[in-house]
Amino acid sequence: MSDDGFTHGKCAAFGCPLPGSLGVGGEWVCFCHHGAASGRWQNVTRCIRSHEALASSISDARRFLGTPQWQSAYREIRRRLTAAGLADLLPGKADESPCSPGHPVAVHWLMRMEMHLLDLCNRETGAALAHPSPPPGVRTAQQTAQHASAYLPDMAKKPDNGDAA
Ligand SMILES: [Zn+2]
Repeated sequence: MSDDGFTHGKCAAFGCPLPGSLGVGGEWVCFCHHGAASGRWQNVTRCIRSHEALASSISDARRFLGTPQWQSAYREIRRRLTAAGLADLLPGKADESPCSPGHPVAVHWLMRMEMHLLDLCNRETGAALAHPSPPPGVRTAQQTAQHASAYLPDMAKKPDNGDAA
């Protein structure tokens, strides 16, 4: 399908570093600002910016997953999250689909990072934000189809297509 949601445009909230992936009133906003009352936007932005390692990792994952730059983008995400003490947010068991053990699913992982950032913002701003996407278990067929190829590419292994040669 199209690459809706993976465009490089920033969220419409002033100063927000996240990509705008959801349309609201003709503007694109990120998953954090999507549910926030406009009076809280600034506080939400401040919270996002104070968790830079996580926010950048979410942005990079949205931008580079499935692209040829993914290997190097992922190395940077891993370095960044580990340095920030957030290694438990790297793809792992928690992101595996029951039908495919051993394979973290990209969209599950991305959702877990986004939920973590939302939790932090809720705690820090009292904004009562909720993630606009339903949990993977109740996704519609259409959404599932869009992410059908979303298994994380091999990240720890060496490139096996000779791209790096
Ligand atoms: Zn935003």
